[in-house]
Amino acid sequence: ALRGEGATLINGRGERFMLARDPLAELAPRDIVARGVFDEIAAGRGAFLDATKALGAKFAARFPTVYASCIAAGLDPATQPIPIAPAAHYHMGGIAVDHHGRTSLKGLWAGGEVSSTGAHGANRLASNSLLEAVVYAARIADDINGNPLAVAGRPRDGMISRNSAMPPLREANLRAMMSSHVGVVRDGDDLAEAIRTFTVIEQTTGNIALRNMATTALIVAASAWSRCESRGAHYRSDYPAEDPAQRHRTVTTLDEARNIAAMVADTAPRKRTSTGA
Ligand SMILES: Cc1cc2nc3c(=O)[nH]c(=O)nc-3n(C[C@H](O)[C@H](O)[C@H](O)COP(=O)(O)OP(=O)(O)OC[C@H]3O[C@@H](n4cnc5c(N)ncnc54)[C@H](O)[C@@H]3O)c2cc1C
Repeated sequence: ALRGEGATLINGRGERFMLARDPLAELAPRDIVARGVFDEIAAGRGAFLDATKALGAKFAARFPTVYASCIAAGLDPATQPIPIAPAAHYHMGGIAVDHHGRTSLKGLWAGGEVSSTGAHGANRLASNSLLEAVVYAARIADDINGNPLAVAGRPRDGMISRNSAMPPLREANLRAMMSSHVGVVRDGDDLAEAIRTFTVIEQTTGNIALRNMATTALIVAASAWSRCESRGAHYRSDYPAEDPAQRHRTVTTLDEARNIAAMVADTAPRKRTSTGA
């Protein structure tokens, strides 16, 4: 929203780095902007959102929540650029559902962020998430209403989720590896390393909540590993171009993810990282 109001993205030298990356500059699609910010930070130049000229003294009135957060962090966005970093705030994948929101498990519907309805392409358009959630919530309610279940399906033993306290260090490791190896810029070696790590966590943790996170991370990483091209938010530095032959939706089952994990299990790690299990 701030970029829409004319705020610019600059690095620590004050350069508008998006000008060189896309004709739309700051208003380029989200994945292009995210990679621009990511590269500036990786190069050590830092990335900032500068609203000092576009909004200046009007900042507090136009964006009171952002303003309050910045002030709480000791920064005045009316006069100072705001330090920024890319963060995942949606994903295009999820649990595969049909147009009623039904999953492959009888008696389980999925809608909203957790689902993969096919409504999104390789990236998301602003505000499509909430629209999708509202549409599928209504469809699911209608479907449940019209089809009372005699016998609900049941997930395989050991997959039933329940809330429980997570071992903080291992959860932090998993999150860090999702950002560093399965994040804005991916490559086959890093994805393979992530797959190996998530497999170890999945097989060794005694905590069911962490195991569910590792299983989900494994499927995401395996799916990204097998898509050898770049498309929208999925960017592979080892396959930086789109491949027209892969211009279609893919679905990865848990069994397929485990097969991929077995395939990369014996590959020697390329480098040591500090985010291992
Ligand atoms: C910073 C940010 C900005 C966004 N801006 C926009 C926007 O402008 N327009 C737009 O369309 N979309 C936007 N989105 C995306 C949109 O917010 C999400 O797609 C939407 O909120 C998804 O709704 P949901 O109900 O499916 O999931 P959530 O809102 O994530 O709700 C899931 C709920 O389940 C709870 N939960 C999780 N695990 C358990 C458990 N084991 N047991 C019980 N409860 C559990 C969580 O606490 C949470 O309350 C934004 C997202 C972010 C992060």
